[in-house]
Amino acid sequence: MHCGGASLDSLARRFGTPLYVYSADQIVERLGLFQQALASREHLVCYAVKANSALAILKLLAERGAGFDIVSGGELERVLAVAPEAAGRVVFSGVGKTAAEIDLALKAGILQFNVESESELKLLAARARRLRIRARFALRVNPDVFAETHPYISTGLSEHKFGIDIRRALGIYKSAASDRWLEAHGVSVHIGSQIRSAAPFGKAIERVSRLARQLRREGVAIEAIDAGGGLGIDYHAGAFDAAEKVGEYAAAVEEALGDFPGRLLVEPGRFLVAQAGALMARVLYVKRNGKKTFVIVDAAMNDLIRPALYQAWHEIVPVRPRAGKPRMVDVVGPVCESGDFFARDRKLAPVEPGDLVALLDAGAYGMAQSSNYNTRPRPAEVLVEGKKARLIRRRETMADLLGPEQA
Ligand SMILES: *Cc1c(COP(=O)(O)O)cnc(C)c1O
Repeated sequence: MHCGGASLDSLARRFGTPLYVYSADQIVERLGLFQQALASREHLVCYAVKANSALAILKLLAERGAGFDIVSGGELERVLAVAPEAAGRVVFSGVGKTAAEIDLALKAGILQFNVESESELKLLAARARRLRIRARFALRVNPDVFAETHPYISTGLSEHKFGIDIRRALGIYKSAASDRWLEAHGVSVHIGSQIRSAAPFGKAIERVSRLARQLRREGVAIEAIDAGGGLGIDYHAGAFDAAEKVGEYAAAVEEALGDFPGRLLVEPGRFLVAQAGALMARVLYVKRNGKKTFVIVDAAMNDLIRPALYQAWHEIVPVRPRAGKPRMVDVVGPVCESGDFFARDRKLAPVEPGDLVALLDAGAYGMAQSSNYNTRPRPAEVLVEGKKARLIRRRETMADLLGPEQA
């Protein structure tokens, strides 16, 4: 098994396990798919930093013209650390921006604040006035569109905490027009994550473009529609045509935009990085309890929480398959929780202690959601470009973990 030109076996020996391995080439290719599919209109692909905020990945994307969707001041600091020239390509989403975060973003000169409530807009106006920096904003509207996905990552229904009821947006834009420190720059929407069909995106953008036309008639000429992120991937093995998926998505969005003359922003996260990454782990033990066989590996839910949090599926493949019949097993980690599993009742080719397994499609919301639970140092991360593999984050040490504490 390989990642780009590097063998996973040799990477695991060189850098140890658990280990995240990413293919730079695939990430760049995915960005290109969006850029090409949207080429007929002025656009900006703002990578959703929260999916994987590794500095090396941000730099890779910034160098190829990507913008960024951030959800915290911390994520803005990351972008500024590796690509300060990209500050003008940043959009800032999230329901709980603090005054300090708003100030940081105003001073950095970001492209657009995606404002999620009237009270946030009030705070934004106050900070802008104080700093004497005009704030470009979009209201993140809640279009009340249902998207088939896990309830934790569905965000476009009125029962969710996200966005402003689209029926109230017009009035808020009109009343903001009198504030000289606010500039109505766009309308934004984000209906959720891991959405597999293009239809809900089209439906949401239809509602947003209707609002944009209405705004235009009322004299609020917004320049951008931000379609958010959320395009899903296929976590199960099998053929996956990424270009076709992006093409369908772009066509649905484009059709819904109709004659909107402005710029299109999109905020893909998962689609750019998920399938470019794998989590490598070593088998520690194979044990039988009653009828069940457990394969205990050295990675755990603190390294990759998606199976525990979203009942997510990750393909698991032995790096050097052994002969023999596949067995029904649970693949679990060492953490003291029954929720610490990567797979349950899964057919897996035979493995023995010391064998290496790869958990596939772990590039998004893997390392980004990792923790130190059970005082486990976070894994190292490696980026493969062509044949060259390079450490982009060293494995954490006990000193990293104990450092901030006082007994
Ligand atoms: C999480 C998020 C995204 C990215 O979602 P993906 O499913 O990873 O594409 C984009 N925009 C906003 C506002 C988000 O919260």
